[in-house]
Amino acid sequence: MACTHHCCSTENADNGRYRNILWIALFINALMFAVEIIMGIKAGSVSLLADSLDFFGDAANYGISLFVVGKTLHIRAKASWIKGYTMGGFGLWVLASTLYHFWYGNIPNHHDMGIVGVIALIANIIVAVLLFAFRNGDSNRRSVWLCSRNDAIGNIMVVAAAFAVQFTQSSWPDLLVAVTMAVLALQAAVQIIRHANTELSARPKISLVAQHEQHFDPD
Ligand SMILES: [Zn+2]
Repeated sequence: MACTHHCCSTENADNGRYRNILWIALFINALMFAVEIIMGIKAGSVSLLADSLDFFGDAANYGISLFVVGKTLHIRAKASWIKGYTMGGFGLWVLASTLYHFWYGNIPNHHDMGIVGVIALIANIIVAVLLFAFRNGDSNRRSVWLCSRNDAIGNIMVVAAAFAVQFTQSSWPDLLVAVTMAVLALQAAVQIIRHANTELSARPKISLVAQHEQHFDPD
């Protein structure tokens, strides 16, 4: 399940050791994003495609943490604006694929679904353990936990769908899980875009206030 996180570590990315962990988290999430898309297409499984959305969102978060922390609010807002629209685009693509599979798809390969779902779960656990062990202070402990839990629920839903596909010999479980996760990812994308828009539109006001203050500066 896609976590809405602006969470998982945007703070304190200046610490050297913590930066290394963010790089590892970025690499694992980007890799799993690619793996789930490739395997989703190969296995004919749209729930794998939908699960990849979360890896995309998380990879983008770690990228933002690494590259735009310490930059101005405007640049950070712009980065999450781009992330929101990219995630929304992928979400729509997954929804469209799900509709396509509903009409024209075959029963997905439950074997590939199950294996990739378990690998995704392991990947998320590794990242969670690393972030938890090397987190900076206690501030993001809760967010690491919440995001990891949501990610794990998504992976477990894919594995459960794999079993259900095998059991029912139909693609319904795959389609249902895909729709659920794609809708959640789209909701998250809308929230991210709204939040970024608020920050982007707040900027001129702040500079007006600054000008105003300058103007009345007694010096
Ligand atoms: Zn996540």
